[in-house]
Amino acid sequence: MMGMVGITLEEITKKFGNFTALNKINLKIEDKEFMALLGPSGSGKSTLLYTIAGIYKPSSGKIYFNDKDVTETPPKDRNVGLVFQNWALYPHMRVFKNIAFPLELKKSSRNEIEKKVREVAKMLHIDHLLDRYPWQLSGGQQQRVAIARALVKEPDVLLLDEPLSNLDALLRLEVRAELKRLQKELGITTIYVTHDQAEALAMADRIAIIREGKILQVGDPDEVYYKPMYKFVAGFLGSPPMNFIHAEVEGGNIRIYQSKISVPKQYREIIKRLEITEVLFGFRPHDAEIIRGEREGIKGEVYSFEPLGREQIVTIAVNSDVFVKVFAPEGEHFSFGEKVTIVPNEERVILFDKKTEKALEYFP
Ligand code: ATP
Repeated sequence: MMGMVGITLEEITKKFGNFTALNKINLKIEDKEFMALLGPSGSGKSTLLYTIAGIYKPSSGKIYFNDKDVTETPPKDRNVGLVFQNWALYPHMRVFKNIAFPLELKKSSRNEIEKKVREVAKMLHIDHLLDRYPWQLSGGQQQRVAIARALVKEPDVLLLDEPLSNLDALLRLEVRAELKRLQKELGITTIYVTHDQAEALAMADRIAIIREGKILQVGDPDEVYYKPMYKFVAGFLGSPPMNFIHAEVEGGNIRIYQSKISVPKQYREIIKRLEITEVLFGFRPHDAEIIRGEREGIKGEVYSFEPLGREQIVTIAVNSDVFVKVFAPEGEHFSFGEKVTIVPNEERVILFDKKTEKALEYFP
């Protein structure tokens, strides 16, 4: 249905007055790819999306759709479909007319409009709602209308700005799965802005993590989750986030407050080579065990525990003001103040340079 379009961003910088919202962004999005732009509020995700749409002109840098330089091309000639967070349906128009609107602007024929609107409405399961007004729809239905309106003109690229954030949590999960499937069925190159790490991990082929106008890392969900390049990336993905503890390296050991554990195998060589003496010791709440009795590990006291059904989150004080979270199986009993040992899964430990907060495996 759609044409083949890959997107290349080359050194894109966008300034608003003195403020640099995007700082030399380089990114390639493959044809048919689902790329998530993930980052905290104000990091520049929307600005980047609107620059790709042509709504903003970059201060410098180039944008290519395939081999064609579109940096100066106005939005209407880029053939992109855009869906905003608030959907912005026309309240006085019925669903049919809302979806048909882009085709009417293009002066498509009556017949063609009729056919295409019905086709796209069917695909999004809203074909029974075409005679309603937006206020007669649920949030999820309104959101589908907005997506239908973006898809009806058969764009080469679909650009979505937090399209699910106005839906309640349950509906968000449902539409998330559906949207992912639709994207693959249509085979349409898609860029999806979100600050929700779970959404990005769940839906995207690849994720670009953005902070303060810069891309910190681009990779598939496994890569950015298991091989984060920076503490920021590690801490942004996963819930609860990765634990980080300041630690000192002494010979083959790592000292974490009162505890001493051996340097994980995969880091022995690099720590020696870089002569590192201080690190941030990182491990995810799912990648450690809580042990009673003597074992090499990180000593601490149970501060709190929260059953979540199949598992529980245990918060452990490693020092008076340093807490980590570890998942434990359901049914295991903990008491406040109990002394325990945390044994991280060595293979999953990630060490970061204390100063640059970069993961050691990414050092040259
Ligand atoms: P959010 O998730 O909150 O929408 P975002 O990552 O999409 O955040 P942007 O909307 O791209 O962030 O904004 C990035 C930065 O650029 C912010 O600091 C914002 O205040 C600034 N900014 C965005 N648009 C403009 C504008 N038109 N004029 C001046 N500054 C702007």
